[in-house]
Amino acid sequence: MTAFGTVFTPEMILSRYDGAQWSTPEIVPSDSITLHPGAHVLHYASTCFEGLKAFRHADGSINIFRMDRNIQRMAQSSRLLSLPAIDEKQLEQMIVEITGRFASEVPEPPGSLYIRPTHIGTEPAIGKAAAPSSTSLLYVLLSPVGDYFSGGSTALRLLLKEDGMRCAPHMGMIKSGGNYASSLPSMMEARAEVKADQVLYCPDGQVQETGAANFLLIDGNEIITRALDSTFLHGVTRDSVLTLARDLGMDVQERDLSIEELLERSAKPGTEATLSGTAAVLAPVGTLIYEGKEYTVGSGKPGPMTAKLRQMMNDIQWGRSEDTHGWLTQV
Ligand code: PMP
Repeated sequence: MTAFGTVFTPEMILSRYDGAQWSTPEIVPSDSITLHPGAHVLHYASTCFEGLKAFRHADGSINIFRMDRNIQRMAQSSRLLSLPAIDEKQLEQMIVEITGRFASEVPEPPGSLYIRPTHIGTEPAIGKAAAPSSTSLLYVLLSPVGDYFSGGSTALRLLLKEDGMRCAPHMGMIKSGGNYASSLPSMMEARAEVKADQVLYCPDGQVQETGAANFLLIDGNEIITRALDSTFLHGVTRDSVLTLARDLGMDVQERDLSIEELLERSAKPGTEATLSGTAAVLAPVGTLIYEGKEYTVGSGKPGPMTAKLRQMMNDIQWGRSEDTHGWLTQV
């Protein structure tokens, strides 16, 4: 089996900003772009991206999940990085066009088509360390992906990290490449030293997020997650799952969650912890590692509420239950 995100459709869609306007989007081969070695992105990391998915329904239609949210987040990332402003309507048309072109490549459930819009500063100007790129490139790559849980859904081990951060605090809500590179050393260390799957960053002792997913604690009828602030990524899955939890009558609490409260609640047998993100929807957490000790979350195994919320999300995505919140765009 190939690793997630390593297979691409042969073509992508691309538009250039020349300093004044966006070019008419073109369909081009997806295996190369021409970039000046002095391009702003390669030196000063003027880059942001998105990750969303299209799903095949039983009637053969292809449906993109919460495209508007991802486009808004990309517009915000571009703004916060002083990249040229994207044209949201144009990006929507680009995503729909390229997804429609490769509709036949959208896998059957439990697979899906992962969509990766990318925006990079292209101006060849290494003198612009303290100035934005006046030109940019926006392209949408597609990658058919299989079942995230094909190896079975095992509960993850997370290392709680109070010192150090995933990225600079004001960068957290921006989906930018540099944030991911900056979190790698702590991730690699956690893997090597305590065999953790992920690091759960807890600056000031308050639970934040992992390197590529948000964190949710489920304790009975309560679902607790950090309130939105600039320090972490405002996940579309987080928002969707909280919406479904509210529909179920759960008590959704967006607030600070200290390590102390997390460990205390995790000790109860029915508690569940889960990571949320586009790739897996929800991935159960079984063990927390903190100051050299291991703490089991609830039963330590994938829990029923995580499975139920994931199923509710999948049912909407694959058209098996009504899209009551209007989250799907048919291509
Ligand atoms: N946090 C980070 C740092 C991420 O990279 C992701 C994945 N995009 C998420 C959270 C989850 O966001 P979403 O639900 O929009 O995929």
